[in-house]
Amino acid sequence: MRKNIVAGNWKMNLTLQEGVKLAKDLNEALKNKQPNCDVIIGTPFIHLATICETIDTKKIGVAAENCADQEKGAFTGEVSAQMVASTGAGYVILGHSERRTYYGENAETLTKKVKLALANRLTPIFCIGEVKEEREAGQHFKVVEEQLSSALWGLSPEDFSKLILAYEPVWAIGTGLTATAEQAQEIHSHIRQFIEQKYGKEIAENCTILYGGSCNAGNAKELFGQKDVDGGLIGGASLSVEKFLPIIEAF
Ligand code: PEP
Repeated sequence: MRKNIVAGNWKMNLTLQEGVKLAKDLNEALKNKQPNCDVIIGTPFIHLATICETIDTKKIGVAAENCADQEKGAFTGEVSAQMVASTGAGYVILGHSERRTYYGENAETLTKKVKLALANRLTPIFCIGEVKEEREAGQHFKVVEEQLSSALWGLSPEDFSKLILAYEPVWAIGTGLTATAEQAQEIHSHIRQFIEQKYGKEIAENCTILYGGSCNAGNAKELFGQKDVDGGLIGGASLSVEKFLPIIEAF
């Protein structure tokens, strides 16, 4: 079912001690609240196990920010989907633009990662989005179509329905530039129609599509108010309770 979700992406920030403190503080802040959305925090691998043991994971879901494209074995430095799941995390962010750009992740790699995540009962939060030049050239619809079809169209309808998508225009990530609510709605609606063509109306309607890119307390309400925007993937503003909580409360 389509859900409202606010998910944080801490990226490569916070020591273990700082991360555990932030997770604890968020847990405390939400203890007596019933947010109108699911809350997830995406943390570096080394934080996962301790955070899952420290907070109420029924109230705050925990996501890894990546996982390996191989099941197990001689892949020094990699962390498998099975290992992520063994920490208690329930989600994994895949295909973030920073991973596509700096680590050369492509559709082939991402398909493997998505399948391994699903096989280990992790929910992928799959990111797509165009760069500035593509938006300026009016290619953004084509770019997201290509990112979806090349990596995900091989999934069965049942597996596709388990994914959360995040539309993140690269020009808005960490830049302070945000897509307008109209721009977000326009492309989210396009993404939903594109999914409908492949998987049908029911799956498209039930697909949760988050917006990401300089989302903050000041713009979250308007963005989340759009018909096809089901919440946010939040980078910078997820690094403090003071900034993250008002975004959760925007729902
Ligand atoms: C992100 O990294 O997914 C993101 C949306 O970052 P920011 O909110 O900082 O733009």
